[in-house]
Amino acid sequence: MLIIIQVFAVALWLALAYWVYQDSRRRFENSGAIAGSTAIALIIPFLGALIYLFIRPPEYLTDAHDRELETLALEAQVDGLKCPECESVVGPRFLVCPMCTAPLREPCRRCSEPLDPAWRVCPYCSTPAHPISSPSEETRIS
Ligand SMILES: [Zn+2]
Ligand SMILES: [Zn+2]
Repeated sequence: MLIIIQVFAVALWLALAYWVYQDSRRRFENSGAIAGSTAIALIIPFLGALIYLFIRPPEYLTDAHDRELETLALEAQVDGLKCPECESVVGPRFLVCPMCTAPLREPCRRCSEPLDPAWRVCPYCSTPAHPISSPSEETRIS
């Protein structure tokens, strides 16, 4: 009976070390870090794998890579703003389209920063973007 428990314990220990090896390969780019994590799991049975759980990077390399691509795609979207009238590429700070002179943004009344038509308030100086009918609300914001 004791032998069965021992064999089981050794199998579990090796399986844990193997799992640490596989998991660290997905989280570390550096082969030294992978070898180090696996060594910890081998040298300290059971506890080593537990220690690895605490020190491992919180995300997979593929996740980090995906997020990087997502950020790049978002940036490209911002860079690739288009004029609603003529579809030519316009900058995020353009007030009018340089190709067809369609109005794109209004300058802020206070700080002259270009404001997106959807914005209700200037993000740079917190002045209301559009003239507000009730003057009491305007004084409250500014
Ligand atoms: Zn245009
Ligand atoms: Zn402003």
